[in-house]
Amino acid sequence: MASRSETSETLRNKCAACFRQFNKMEHLVEHMRISSHSVHEPMCGICKKHCRSFESLREHLIGPLPKQECKNIFSVLGCKFCLTILDSYNSLMIHQERCQLSNLNAGLIARMSNIGLRDNLTNDSGYTRGPQVVALACKMVGGGSDGSLDLCGRVCLIDENENIIFHTYVKPPIPVTNYRYESTGIRSEYLRDAMPLRLVQSKIQNFLCNGEPMWKIRPRGGKARILVGHGLNHYLDRLQLEYPAMMIRDTATYPPLMKTCKLSNSLKYLTQAYLGYDIQTGIQDPYEECVATMRLYMRMRSQKHAVEDHPLASDPQNRNNFASWRQAELERMSAEEMLAISRSDYYCWCLDS
Ligand SMILES: [Zn+2]
Ligand SMILES: [Zn+2]
Ligand SMILES: [Zn+2]
Ligand SMILES: [Zn+2]
Repeated sequence: MASRSETSETLRNKCAACFRQFNKMEHLVEHMRISSHSVHEPMCGICKKHCRSFESLREHLIGPLPKQECKNIFSVLGCKFCLTILDSYNSLMIHQERCQLSNLNAGLIARMSNIGLRDNLTNDSGYTRGPQVVALACKMVGGGSDGSLDLCGRVCLIDENENIIFHTYVKPPIPVTNYRYESTGIRSEYLRDAMPLRLVQSKIQNFLCNGEPMWKIRPRGGKARILVGHGLNHYLDRLQLEYPAMMIRDTATYPPLMKTCKLSNSLKYLTQAYLGYDIQTGIQDPYEECVATMRLYMRMRSQKHAVEDHPLASDPQNRNNFASWRQAELERMSAEEMLAISRSDYYCWCLDS
């Protein structure tokens, strides 16, 4: 008899998102206070378990210690790139054909490798659906006595449709001591008369702000552009650019794309795992990196999540969601009710759409 009531007690104290079980209701309440579970977390399409990242969802579905029931269904009906479950083998085949992308532009990159400058950086006032989105990537050459100091030698910017907006060699302000030719393909003669860093910096800065003063930039309703990339802080630092964090979408620091241990994944890994093709083999054009990050961003943005009035835990309306309820009131709630008032602690990119 004791075991029966224990079982129902444990069932009641099961987190409605991650399914962790607690001996006491107050422990579940405490768990909900700190977990920031939300509709934006990657979720298993079979058992509906929420995961902190796609990496942990992948572990849940594929291994090394998967949930067996989910693994069995996933192995027949799951897309191994975006991890969704389709309703038939046929629709899985059709879906995966579209979901797996390829490095179609490899030929173009090879041909482009000698384009010195493509400069379409113009400001404009009109935009249709929300702010415009651009991806940026650099290739670094080496400076300093041992060539280990990163200097931007080449930069590329593309739009949402993978069109090149800006693509140029950059002349660094201090001497280059290592061109890192095997990966950059950059030779000294390419940089000799290249665009000076200061000019590159101001062109990109103006383009991103798009006529809006930096202090006026706000996440919605402005003209400033959303900037996508991988490890953007380092690029911005090397370009001597400043840009508000709220306009930055970085695939290296976006929680759903990070490792379970909260470290960044490499772009090479993310592209292979989520888009299904290889990048960064041999000489690398920053255009390739722009395309991969833009595609990852688009995939994350297109996720269909339930619409909430105030989606972020940091929204003022939510600040007191858990604090304003008395412990006793929370303990009377069901696990589902608590999940319903819980909000995400990161900005989900679906909110850009
Ligand atoms: Zn939980
Ligand atoms: Zn979302
Ligand atoms: Zn599952
Ligand atoms: Zn897919």
